[in-house]
Order: sequence, then C-alpha cells, then structure tokens
Amino acid sequence: SAQAALTAAELVSSGEGAAFALCRPPGHHAARAYYGGYCFLNNAAIAAQRLIDRGMKRVAVLDVDYHHGNGTQSIFYDRDDVLFVSLHGDPDEDYPFFLGHAEERGAGRGEGYNLNLPLPHGTAADRWFEALEHGLDAIRRFRPDALVVSLGVDTYEKDPISFFRLTSDDFSRLGARLAGLAVPALFVMEGGYNLDAIGVNVVNVLSAFEDARQAAPI
Ligand code: ZN
Repeated sequence: SAQAALTAAELVSSGEGAAFALCRPPGHHAARAYYGGYCFLNNAAIAAQRLIDRGMKRVAVLDVDYHHGNGTQSIFYDRDDVLFVSLHGDPDEDYPFFLGHAEERGAGRGEGYNLNLPLPHGTAADRWFEALEHGLDAIRRFRPDALVVSLGVDTYEKDPISFFRLTSDDFSRLGARLAGLAVPALFVMEGGYNLDAIGVNVVNVLSAFEDARQAAPI
C-alpha cells in the first residue's frame, strides 16, 4: 500500500498532473510510532515526504475521509513545509476521539499549518462544502507545489460506520473543486465501507477532477 503511494509520488514529482494510489490498507490513522483504524503505515504522509525529498518546497495534505487523519496530523504537526487540512466527524463523537479538534493548529514552526474542520453527525452537502471551501482557501494561501488528497469516501450517506450525508453526485462536485486548485494532485485511497458504492464514489471524484483539468489544464 505504501509502495503504491510512493509510485504515485514518483509520477507526480516527475511531471504527471495527477495520480491515484489505490491503497489498501488505508494509512491516515498511522503515525510515526503507532498504528490504528486499519492503518499500519501512513501512505499519504509517506507520499508527501517523498514529494518534499524530490524537491518540492511545500506540500498540502487535504484529508476528506469521514475520520480525522490523526496520524498525518501527528507526523507533520511541528512542520511548516507540509500543511495539513482535515474535514471530519467531531472527535468528541467519533474515532479517533483524542485528536481532530479545531484548536489543534500545529506547534513550533508548524503553528498555523494544521487546520481541523470538525463537523457534527448528519452533516450534508451544504455544510460540508462550506467547510471544504474554508480548507481550500487555506491551501491556496499556502501556495503548495503539490496536493496530496487523503481520499476517504466514508462521508457517503449510506456508509455503514459513518454519519455524514454526501451523495454520489457530491463526490463529483468534490473532484471538480479539487481540480480548481490548479496544482499537481496525488490521491491516496483511505476509508469507504459501503462496498456497493465505494467504486462509484471514488470514480466520481476522479473523473470529475479529470474533466475539470482537461477543461482548464495547469
Ligand atoms: Zn474513515
């Protein structure tokens, strides 16, 4: 799984405009010294670090999985070269419980480079996309050389373990919004537990992204 993310990072660092790493197991709950939430190695963080190692100065990680990316936050918490932005279920109600609050903004040099946007159970498209725009604004201000998307689709309305209400069409809208950032993008698969819909929802993100990119190449 981590190797798939590294292959995607190599493609993006050598000039591809986008790549998708179909990672299983997912990774965003794994930190330097702990694992959890089905995650053993943090694929998105490993990919972001590889982009930095290949010469990128600033990388933004946007985590749209239903659950907070506690591992990714922890790994980059004291750094200013990787911005971490996460939209997720309020950790007072959901896994991972101990991290993901709005007041966690980074530490040391990393202060101001961690943005958590927790949302309540039942959040549907209106409120979710409002939070997304807030996150995208922060990413634009950061002016990243590349974007890593921790792409969980467990925000889907019929996901069996999560409590947001995004529809399959909303995932197309997400893909188009991400293309609007106009930076190279590396998608890393995270959660998604409605097995009838996961393929549709992921493909909706990626194809809307690709369509918008073709209409407005970077
Ligand atoms: Zn999740």
